[in-house]
Amino acid sequence: MDTIDLRSDTVTHPTPEMRRAMAEAQVGDDVFGEDPTVNRLQAMGAERMGKEAGLFVASGTMGNLVAVLSHCGRGEEVILGDRAHTFLYEAGGVAALGGVHPHPVPNQTDGTLRLEDVGEAIRAEDVHFPHSRLVCLENTQNRCGGAVLTAEYTDNVGRLAHERGLALHIDGARIFNAAAALGVPAKRLAQAADSICFCLSKALCAPVGSVLCGSHAFIAQARRIRKQVGGGMRQAGILAAAGIVALETMVDRLPEDHANARRLARGLAGIPGILLDAGTPYTNMVIFGLAPSVPIDGRETAERLAELGVRVQVIAPRRFRAALHYWVDGQGVDRVIEGFHQVIASA
Ligand SMILES: *Cc1c(COP(=O)(O)O)cnc(C)c1O
Repeated sequence: MDTIDLRSDTVTHPTPEMRRAMAEAQVGDDVFGEDPTVNRLQAMGAERMGKEAGLFVASGTMGNLVAVLSHCGRGEEVILGDRAHTFLYEAGGVAALGGVHPHPVPNQTDGTLRLEDVGEAIRAEDVHFPHSRLVCLENTQNRCGGAVLTAEYTDNVGRLAHERGLALHIDGARIFNAAAALGVPAKRLAQAADSICFCLSKALCAPVGSVLCGSHAFIAQARRIRKQVGGGMRQAGILAAAGIVALETMVDRLPEDHANARRLARGLAGIPGILLDAGTPYTNMVIFGLAPSVPIDGRETAERLAELGVRVQVIAPRRFRAALHYWVDGQGVDRVIEGFHQVIASA
């Protein structure tokens, strides 16, 4: 029996077409700028984001790190959400490796930062204060259940940042999910940003990598910082080849994952003992919990589900996340619903 793994969209493995493209990829030394496949992926990524240039990086964490270190010097400040991936889940890299001071402001439940909060977080010129250099947004916002930031909202944050002399970076690990949910091109969501990083290896199924995009000048600096953090790769075209297939074949099908997320949510909503979060799913993630009437906790529930071949992520003692992706279809979704039925009914 195949396991249905909804713990994350990072569990996606490459498609047969990706494996073929990897095997046949033309390569060169990318630190010399001579890998034609990497160069092609970077150009495609930049085009998708409406930016001048792109840079292939090993991970989303590296992309955000390189972006923050390219925008900010030591002792300078980045303003970001208190539920931002960069704040919570990147091992404090911007502080540890760049001496950059993170200044968190509250994420609202819809994933936004209030404009007033961002405005107040920007420091005045004073010998006591760090210089504020950068605002970071995350779209979709992972810890807010995959919530989507609109183009208008992003434009407003960009205007505020730019008026005050700061840059705007978007952690767009799932920007194509946001674009699919809103029915707009991803580049529209990136328009106000000075830089954006998107992921090839989550919903898009490539095995490795993200692309950081921005102006020629920004990417020149980012290339230098990527080298500093050990991210200059050589015949990386082997990896980039899968990323090209990801952009060509995986972006337009994302609405299927969103439809499967809605199907899962509808099914779970019909199970006594399961409480869906308000608003879920925004995109490809369903966030839900156990009612107090259920006598077992989240960990126990997940263990019993795993015996039935279903895996979900336990995000709090009685709460779960299920991330839909390419390798789970409608039938798989129904097996997940059935699994929850069975586990809760017999608890
Ligand atoms: C996964 C993720 C990242 C980091 O990506 P890795 O490739 O796992 O380093 C960054 N931001 C968000 C919002 C993510 O979900």
